Amino acid sequence: MKTGLYGGTFDPLHNGHIKVAQAAKNHLQLDRIIFIPAGDPPHKTDKKITDKAHRLAMTELAAEGVGAFVSDWELNQTERSYSVLTVQHFKELYPEDEIYFIIGADSFRDLPSWWHYRELMGLCNFVVVSRPDVDKSTFLSRFDGDETPPRVFFLDNILMDISSTQIRNMAAEGKDFSHLVPASIADYIQANGLYKG
Ligand code: ATP
Ligand code: MG
Repeated sequence: MKTGLYGGTFDPLHNGHIKVAQAAKNHLQLDRIIFIPAGDPPHKTDKKITDKAHRLAMTELAAEGVGAFVSDWELNQTERSYSVLTVQHFKELYPEDEIYFIIGADSFRDLPSWWHYRELMGLCNFVVVSRPDVDKSTFLSRFDGDETPPRVFFLDNILMDISSTQIRNMAAEGKDFSHLVPASIADYIQANGLYKG
Protein backbone atom coordinates (compact mmCIF):
# COMPACT_ATOMS: atom_id res chain seq x y z
CA MET A 1 0.00 0.00 0.00
CA LYS A 2 1.01 3.56 -0.61
CA THR A 3 0.26 5.74 2.38
CA GLY A 4 0.35 9.53 2.29
CA LEU A 5 1.12 11.30 5.55
CA TYR A 6 0.01 14.88 5.66
CA GLY A 7 1.04 16.75 8.78
CA GLY A 8 0.20 20.31 9.66
CA THR A 9 -0.84 22.60 12.42
CA PHE A 10 -4.27 22.63 10.77
CA ASP A 11 -5.27 25.75 12.67
CA PRO A 12 -7.67 25.48 10.88
CA LEU A 13 -7.52 22.92 8.08
CA HIS A 14 -8.61 24.72 4.88
CA ASN A 15 -9.52 24.11 1.24
CA GLY A 16 -5.86 24.39 0.22
CA HIS A 17 -5.01 21.41 2.43
CA ILE A 18 -7.94 19.45 1.00
CA LYS A 19 -6.92 20.15 -2.56
CA VAL A 20 -3.36 19.07 -1.77
CA ALA A 21 -4.52 15.81 -0.21
CA GLN A 22 -6.77 14.99 -3.15
CA ALA A 23 -4.15 15.89 -5.75
CA ALA A 24 -1.47 13.84 -3.99
CA LYS A 25 -3.80 10.86 -3.78
CA ASN A 26 -4.75 11.05 -7.46
CA HIS A 27 -1.37 11.85 -8.96
CA LEU A 28 0.66 9.37 -6.96
CA GLN A 29 -2.08 6.76 -6.69
CA LEU A 30 -1.96 6.68 -2.93
CA ASP A 31 -4.20 4.14 -1.21
CA ARG A 32 -4.81 6.34 1.78
CA ILE A 33 -4.12 9.78 3.20
CA ILE A 34 -3.62 10.31 6.90
CA PHE A 35 -3.92 13.84 8.26
CA ILE A 36 -1.65 14.33 11.27
CA PRO A 37 -2.31 17.43 13.35
CA ALA A 38 0.92 18.57 15.00
CA GLY A 39 1.20 18.63 18.77
CA ASP A 40 3.87 21.14 19.52
CA PRO A 41 5.35 22.14 16.16
CA PRO A 42 9.10 22.71 16.50
CA HIS A 43 8.94 25.56 13.98
CA LYS A 44 6.05 27.42 15.53
CA THR A 45 7.03 27.65 19.18
CA ASP A 46 6.69 31.42 19.20
CA LYS A 47 3.09 31.43 18.02
CA LYS A 48 -0.15 30.94 19.87
CA ILE A 49 -1.77 27.75 18.64
CA THR A 50 -5.38 26.76 19.13
CA ASP A 51 -6.19 24.03 21.61
CA LYS A 52 -5.41 20.62 20.17
CA ALA A 53 -8.91 19.26 20.80
CA HIS A 54 -10.32 21.92 18.47
CA ARG A 55 -7.68 21.32 15.79
CA LEU A 56 -8.31 17.58 15.96
CA ALA A 57 -12.08 18.04 15.75
CA MET A 58 -11.78 20.30 12.70
CA THR A 59 -9.35 17.91 11.02
CA GLU A 60 -11.79 15.04 11.57
CA LEU A 61 -14.61 17.02 10.01
CA ALA A 62 -12.51 17.69 6.92
CA ALA A 63 -11.27 14.09 6.70
CA GLU A 64 -14.82 12.77 6.74
CA GLY A 65 -15.61 14.89 3.71
CA VAL A 66 -12.73 13.54 1.62
CA GLY A 67 -12.43 9.94 2.82
CA ALA A 68 -9.13 10.49 4.58
CA PHE A 69 -7.97 9.31 7.99
CA VAL A 70 -6.77 11.30 10.98
CA SER A 71 -4.05 10.30 13.40
CA ASP A 72 -3.79 11.83 16.86
CA TRP A 73 -0.34 10.33 17.34
CA GLU A 74 1.56 13.62 17.36
CA LEU A 75 -1.05 15.28 19.55
CA ASN A 76 -0.52 12.57 22.15
CA GLN A 77 3.25 12.92 22.30
CA THR A 78 4.57 14.57 25.39
CA GLU A 79 7.80 15.48 23.60
CA ARG A 80 7.84 17.89 20.68
CA SER A 81 6.72 16.30 17.46
CA TYR A 82 9.54 15.73 15.03
CA SER A 83 8.69 14.41 11.59
CA VAL A 84 11.32 11.69 11.66
CA LEU A 85 9.69 10.17 14.76
CA THR A 86 6.27 10.37 13.19
CA VAL A 87 7.37 8.63 10.01
CA GLN A 88 9.18 5.98 12.07
CA HIS A 89 5.94 5.38 13.96
CA PHE A 90 3.97 4.82 10.76
CA LYS A 91 6.71 2.60 9.31
CA GLU A 92 6.32 0.39 12.39
CA LEU A 93 2.56 0.46 12.13
CA TYR A 94 2.55 -0.33 8.39
CA PRO A 95 5.87 -2.06 7.68
CA GLU A 96 4.82 -3.11 4.17
CA ASP A 97 3.78 0.36 3.10
CA GLU A 98 5.60 2.88 1.03
CA ILE A 99 5.31 6.22 2.80
CA TYR A 100 4.74 9.51 0.98
CA PHE A 101 5.32 12.55 3.15
CA ILE A 102 3.22 15.42 1.83
CA ILE A 103 4.64 18.84 2.45
CA GLY A 104 4.37 22.41 1.18
CA ALA A 105 7.35 23.87 -0.64
CA ASP A 106 7.74 26.47 2.10
CA SER A 107 8.30 23.75 4.71
CA PHE A 108 10.36 21.50 2.44
CA ARG A 109 12.76 24.36 1.75
CA ASP A 110 13.68 24.31 5.45
CA LEU A 111 14.12 20.54 5.63
CA PRO A 112 17.92 20.70 6.09
CA SER A 113 17.30 22.44 9.42
CA TRP A 114 15.04 19.67 10.74
CA TRP A 115 16.09 17.32 13.48
CA HIS A 116 17.62 14.15 11.93
CA TYR A 117 16.50 15.16 8.47
CA ARG A 118 18.82 12.75 6.70
CA GLU A 119 17.25 9.86 8.54
CA LEU A 120 13.85 11.17 7.56
CA MET A 121 14.91 11.37 3.92
CA GLY A 122 15.86 7.71 4.02
CA LEU A 123 12.47 6.64 5.35
CA CYS A 124 10.04 8.14 2.90
CA ASN A 125 9.29 9.82 -0.39
CA PHE A 126 8.35 13.47 -0.41
CA VAL A 127 5.43 15.01 -2.21
CA VAL A 128 6.30 18.68 -2.43
CA VAL A 129 3.46 21.05 -3.19
CA SER A 130 4.17 24.44 -4.70
CA ARG A 131 3.30 27.51 -2.68
CA PRO A 132 3.40 31.20 -3.57
CA ASP A 133 6.82 32.85 -3.26
CA VAL A 134 8.79 29.61 -3.20
CA ASP A 135 10.98 28.91 -6.19
CA LYS A 136 11.69 25.20 -6.31
CA SER A 137 14.78 25.56 -8.46
CA THR A 138 16.54 27.07 -5.47
CA PHE A 139 16.05 24.39 -2.90
CA LEU A 140 17.05 21.08 -4.43
CA SER A 141 20.60 22.40 -4.50
CA ARG A 142 20.49 22.42 -0.73
CA PHE A 143 20.94 18.65 -0.78
CA ASP A 144 23.96 18.71 -3.10
CA GLY A 145 26.35 17.51 -0.43
CA ASP A 146 24.13 14.64 0.66
CA GLU A 147 24.98 11.05 -0.15
CA THR A 148 21.34 10.14 -0.62
CA PRO A 149 19.29 13.04 -1.90
CA PRO A 150 15.60 13.04 -1.05
CA ARG A 151 13.15 11.25 -3.32
CA VAL A 152 10.88 14.07 -4.34
CA PHE A 153 7.70 14.25 -6.38
CA PHE A 154 6.56 17.77 -7.18
CA LEU A 155 2.91 18.65 -7.29
CA ASP A 156 2.59 21.83 -9.28
CA ASN A 157 -0.41 23.64 -10.66
CA ILE A 158 -2.56 23.07 -7.63
CA LEU A 159 -1.49 26.30 -6.10
CA MET A 160 -4.16 27.83 -3.90
CA ASP A 161 -3.25 31.06 -2.23
CA ILE A 162 -4.89 30.19 1.08
CA SER A 163 -3.27 29.91 4.48
CA SER A 164 -4.56 29.27 7.97
CA THR A 165 -3.01 32.57 9.04
CA GLN A 166 -5.17 34.39 6.51
CA ILE A 167 -8.30 32.61 7.79
CA ARG A 168 -7.50 33.37 11.44
CA ASN A 169 -6.97 37.03 10.55
CA MET A 170 -10.20 37.22 8.60
CA ALA A 171 -12.09 35.61 11.48
CA ALA A 172 -10.55 38.05 13.96
CA GLU A 173 -11.64 40.95 11.76
CA GLY A 174 -15.15 39.55 11.43
CA LYS A 175 -14.71 38.92 7.68
CA ASP A 176 -16.43 36.12 5.82
CA PHE A 177 -13.95 33.27 5.24
CA SER A 178 -16.52 30.55 4.60
CA HIS A 179 -15.39 30.06 0.98
CA LEU A 180 -11.90 29.06 2.18
CA VAL A 181 -12.84 26.12 4.43
CA PRO A 182 -15.33 23.24 4.29
CA ALA A 183 -18.78 24.28 5.53
CA SER A 184 -18.48 21.94 8.51
CA ILE A 185 -15.32 23.75 9.64
CA ALA A 186 -16.83 27.21 9.14
CA ASP A 187 -19.74 26.07 11.35
CA TYR A 188 -17.34 24.64 13.94
CA ILE A 189 -15.32 27.87 14.14
CA GLN A 190 -18.48 29.87 14.53
CA ALA A 191 -20.05 27.55 17.11
CA ASN A 192 -16.90 27.49 19.23
CA GLY A 193 -16.04 31.15 18.87
CA LEU A 194 -12.51 30.42 17.60
CA TYR A 195 -10.08 33.06 16.30
CA LYS A 196 -11.92 36.00 17.77
CA GLY A 197 -8.59 37.74 18.36
P1 ATP B 1 -0.17 28.85 8.87
O1 ATP B 1 -0.59 30.03 8.06
O2 ATP B 1 -0.68 28.83 10.26
O3 ATP B 1 1.29 28.55 8.77
P2 ATP B 1 -0.77 26.93 6.77
O4 ATP B 1 -1.91 27.36 5.91
O5 ATP B 1 0.59 27.08 6.23
O6 ATP B 1 -0.92 27.61 8.19
P3 ATP B 1 -0.12 24.44 7.95
O7 ATP B 1 -0.98 23.68 8.89
O8 ATP B 1 1.09 25.13 8.44
O9 ATP B 1 -1.07 25.47 7.19
O10 ATP B 1 0.22 23.57 6.69
C1 ATP B 1 0.51 22.22 6.70
C2 ATP B 1 1.17 21.88 5.38
O11 ATP B 1 0.31 22.23 4.30
C3 ATP B 1 2.48 22.62 5.17
O12 ATP B 1 3.38 21.72 4.57
C4 ATP B 1 2.09 23.74 4.23
O13 ATP B 1 3.18 24.14 3.42
C5 ATP B 1 0.99 23.09 3.39
N1 ATP B 1 0.00 24.03 2.88
C6 ATP B 1 -0.77 24.88 3.59
N2 ATP B 1 -1.57 25.62 2.82
C7 ATP B 1 -1.32 25.25 1.53
C8 ATP B 1 -1.81 25.68 0.23
N3 ATP B 1 -2.74 26.64 0.11
N4 ATP B 1 -1.31 25.08 -0.86
C9 ATP B 1 -0.35 24.13 -0.73
N5 ATP B 1 0.16 23.69 0.46
C10 ATP B 1 -0.31 24.22 1.57
MG1 MG C 1 2.30 27.23 7.36
